[in-house]
Amino acid sequence: MKWYEMEVNEVERSTGTNGTTGLSDKEAQKRLKQYGENKLDEGEKPSALLVFLSQFKDFMVLVLLAATLISGLLGEYIDAITIMIIILLNGVLGFVQERKAEKSLTALKELSAPQLVVLRNGEWTKIPSSLAVVGDIVKVTSGDRIGADMRLLKVNGLQIEESSLTGESVPVQKSEQVLVGEDLELGDQANMAFMGTLVTQGNGIGVIIATGMKTEMGKIAHLLQSTETLVTPLQRKLEQLGKILIGVALLLTALVVLIGVYQGHDVYTMFLAGVSLAVAAIPEGLPAIVTVALALGVQRMIKRKAIVRKLPAVETLGCASVICSDKTGTLTQNKMTVTHLWIGGKTWHVTGTGYEPTGDFLASGEKVNIQKERALQQMLAFGYLCNHAKINEKPVKEGLLKKKKTEFYLDGDPTEGALVVAAMKAGITSDSLKKQFKIIKEFPFESTRKMMTVIVEDKNGKRFAITKGAPDVVLANSKNIFFNSREEALTNRSRTLVEDAITTLASQALRTIAIAYRPLSTSDKVDYPLDVEKDLTFIGLEGMIDPPRPEVRDSIRECREAGIKTIMITGDHAITARAIAKQLDILPENGKVLDGQTLSRISVQQLEEIVDDVYVFARVSPEHKLKIVKALQARGHIVAMTGDGVNDAPAIKAANIGIAMGITGTDVAKEASSLILSDDNFATIKVAIKEGRNIYENIRKFIRYMLASNVGEILVMLFAMILGLPLPLVAIQILWINLVTDGLPAMALGMDKAEGDVMKRPPRSPDEGVFARGLAWKIVSRGFMIGVVTLVAFMVTLNANPDDLTKAQTVAFVTLVMAQLIHVFDCRSEYSVYHRNPFENMYLVVAVISSVLLMLAVIYYPPLQTVFHTTYMDARDWLLILGMAAIPTVVLGAGQLFGKKR
Ligand code: ATP
Repeated sequence: MKWYEMEVNEVERSTGTNGTTGLSDKEAQKRLKQYGENKLDEGEKPSALLVFLSQFKDFMVLVLLAATLISGLLGEYIDAITIMIIILLNGVLGFVQERKAEKSLTALKELSAPQLVVLRNGEWTKIPSSLAVVGDIVKVTSGDRIGADMRLLKVNGLQIEESSLTGESVPVQKSEQVLVGEDLELGDQANMAFMGTLVTQGNGIGVIIATGMKTEMGKIAHLLQSTETLVTPLQRKLEQLGKILIGVALLLTALVVLIGVYQGHDVYTMFLAGVSLAVAAIPEGLPAIVTVALALGVQRMIKRKAIVRKLPAVETLGCASVICSDKTGTLTQNKMTVTHLWIGGKTWHVTGTGYEPTGDFLASGEKVNIQKERALQQMLAFGYLCNHAKINEKPVKEGLLKKKKTEFYLDGDPTEGALVVAAMKAGITSDSLKKQFKIIKEFPFESTRKMMTVIVEDKNGKRFAITKGAPDVVLANSKNIFFNSREEALTNRSRTLVEDAITTLASQALRTIAIAYRPLSTSDKVDYPLDVEKDLTFIGLEGMIDPPRPEVRDSIRECREAGIKTIMITGDHAITARAIAKQLDILPENGKVLDGQTLSRISVQQLEEIVDDVYVFARVSPEHKLKIVKALQARGHIVAMTGDGVNDAPAIKAANIGIAMGITGTDVAKEASSLILSDDNFATIKVAIKEGRNIYENIRKFIRYMLASNVGEILVMLFAMILGLPLPLVAIQILWINLVTDGLPAMALGMDKAEGDVMKRPPRSPDEGVFARGLAWKIVSRGFMIGVVTLVAFMVTLNANPDDLTKAQTVAFVTLVMAQLIHVFDCRSEYSVYHRNPFENMYLVVAVISSVLLMLAVIYYPPLQTVFHTTYMDARDWLLILGMAAIPTVVLGAGQLFGKKR
C-alpha cells in the first residue's frame, strides 16, 4: 500500500508514531542511530593527501625540485636537503592555509543549515533538519523548504512548488484526503510533501515517511550533485593578474641569469639562484591567501552575528551604497504592545508593558469598567479569535530567596500577540472563546492582502467572518460601520472619521490593525479570501507601539558618514512609517515618503528619476521591492536589500547583497540571500559592511606587502648583475626569505583591524581595480627602494671587505629581511607608517619578532651558518643594516608626513 492511500491511523502505525505527542527523544535518537542522518550524500571531497600534493604541482616548484636533484647529484648535499626542506615547509604552509579556509567555509555552510519544527515528547521544537527521523511530526509553513518526505495530516491552504522534483513550476494545492490509484505521479500525490520542495502558501502538519537518500530527492540526488565553489571577483582578477606577474617574474629572472652568465658567473650557480628567485618572486600563494583573508574576515563576522552565505558578498559589502531595510524587527524591536483602541469616534488607552496581560483601560485619563463596554469587549474578542499567537507563562527563579515568579512569553507573530495580550487584559480567555465560537475556516495573513480572516460559528449556529488587517485596506472593503452600538451604512462622514483616526494613531508611530466582521449564511461561498473579505462591517482600530532598536539610530548615522543611504521599506501605513523614520533619523528635511499605490502606478524608469530623494517606502507589498532594487541599480547603486518572506526572495536575489533574517526569515529567503543576520538587527548590517570594507583593505595590504617584497628581491639581483657585481644573495637565502617573511607576516596582515576612517570614506566602486588608489605606485616605489638599499648595503660591505663575499651576502640578506619586516607596518595604512600604532596588531608584532629570531638563528648559529652561507654580524654591520633597512619606510614615510603637513 502506498503512503497516499493510507488513512491517518495507518500512517501513524506504519511509522510507529503518535500524531498528538510525536516521537520521544529517546526513540528519535534510536532511529537516528539506526537509519542515519537526514542528509543527501555530497560528492567526494579531495583527500588531505591530494590537497597536500597539489601544493607542489606548480611548474616553477617542479623546476626547483629538479634543480635540487641535480645539485644533490653534483654532491651539494646540504644545499639540496635544505632546499627540499624549505619547499616542503612551503607546501605545508600552503596546505594549512587551504585547509583552514575550507574548514571555515564548511562551518559557514553548517551555520546556515536548514531547520525543522518537529513534535517531540508532546512539544514543538526546532531541530537541525539533519536530525529528523521517520515518524517525526513536522509543522510546515509558507516559505519553508520541505526537509524530508512526508505524508500530510492536516493542511491549511497549503500550496507547494515542486519544480525541483517534477519540473512543474505552478504550485500544487495540497490536501489531507486519502487518495486512490495505483501509480500516482509525484505531482499528483496531493497529500504528500517531498524533500526539497517549497511551501509557497499556507501551512500544514505532516509525518515524515522517508529521510536522506531514501527520499524522492535522494533517489535523483546523483543528478544534482554539483559542488560549486564560488570564486569572488577579486580572486578572479588576482588569478588573471597572477598570470601576468608570473610572466614578468620569469622574464626578469631570465634576465638576471643571462646577464649573470654574461658577466662571467658560474652557470650552475646562476641557474639555481634564478630558479629560486622565480619561485620566490612568483606570487603563487596570492589566491590562497586571499581566500584565507576572506575566511578570517567571515569568521569575525560570524562572531558579530552576520553569516555570509556566498563568499563574493564579502567583497560586494564594501561597495554597498544603499541599504534597503525592512522596518519591523530589523529597525524596530518587533515587541508590539497595544496602547490605543478606537471605536466609532471614541478612544481608549491601554496601560501595561510587554506580554504580561495586566493593565487598565482608560478613557480621557479615567479608568473604565471594561465589563460595561460591550463594543470594546467584542472588538478585543474578535482580535483574539482571528489570531494564531499564544501567550504562555513560564516560571523564572529570581533573587537571593529564589522566589518563584512567572514570566509571560509569546509564541507566534508579535502583531497578533499584542492583540491577544490586549484581550487578556480585558479578562477574555481562550477557553471562554472556545466555548462560544467554533472556527470553521481560516485565510492566513499575507503581506500582499494585508488581511487575515477566520470564519466562525457561534453557539446558536450563526456563521460570520472576522477580518483583521491594515485599516485602510479593511476600510476599503467595508460597507457598514459599527457606530453607537449600531450597525449603519458607511457614509462619507463616517469614512472620514475613520481615516482621521487612522492618521492620528499612525502619526504617533503606532502600527494599526482594524477589526471587522461579516455575517454569512450557510449558502455563501467561502472558498477564497475574495469571497468573504468584502462588504465588511468595520468595528474599530487597535494601535500598537513597536519601539525602535536602541542601537539603530547610531548605525544609520555611521552608514551615512560612510556614504551609504538607508531606505526604510515597510508594509505599515505611510504616516506610521514617517513617524518612525523621523525617530530613527532616516528621513532628512526634504526626503520623500512613497507609498505602495504610487509605486504600483509608476514605471521603473519613473521611479529611477525620483528614487534618490525617497527614504521611506510605505504600504508596500513584497513585489514592490524588486522594482525598488531595479530602480536603484539603474541609478548605479550597489544595493543591499533585506527580507524574510517567500515573496521577498526575488528582490533578495536581484539585490547586489541579499540579506535574510536569521530568526524570522523563511528558508526561501535565506536560500536567496548572500548574508544572514542571525539577530535580525539592522546594526549587524553596518557591522558586516564595515568588516567587508576591512577585509578588502586587508587583502590590499598583503598584496602590497608581498609584491613590494618581490620587486625588492628581483631588483637587487638584477642591479647587481647589471653592475657586474657578485651575487648578493644565494639561492637558499632567497628561498628562506620567501618562506619566512612572506609567510607569517603576510597572514598576520589578514587579521588586521580596520583603519580608523574606514567608515568615513565613500563606498568603493565595484569597478575599482586591484591596484587603484595609488597601490601600484606604492608597490613599485617601495619595492624599488628596498632593492636599492639592499644593494647599497651589499656594495658598502663588499668594498670594505673585498675578500669576504659571505659577509657582504649576509649583510644583503639581513638588510633585505629587515627592510621587508619594517615595510610590513607601512602596509597597514593608506597613509604612512606613522598613522597607525604598530602594537595594535599583536599577531603582526609576534610574526615579525619570530621572523627576526629565525633570522638571527640563521646568522649566529654555526650549523645554520653553513647551511645558509652566512656569517656573524658585528655592531658596525648592524648599524649599516638597520640604517639602510629603515630608509624605504621610516625615512620616506617621515618625508611624506612632513610634506603633507606643509
Ligand atoms: P515591515 O515591512 O516594516 O517589516 P511588515 O512586513 O510587518 O512590516 P506587513 O506584515 O506587510 O508589514 O504588514 C502590513 C500591515 O498589515 C500592517 O501595518 C498591519 O496593519 C497589517 N498586519 C500585519 N500583521 C497582520 C496580521 N497578522 N493580521 C492582520 N493584519 C496584519
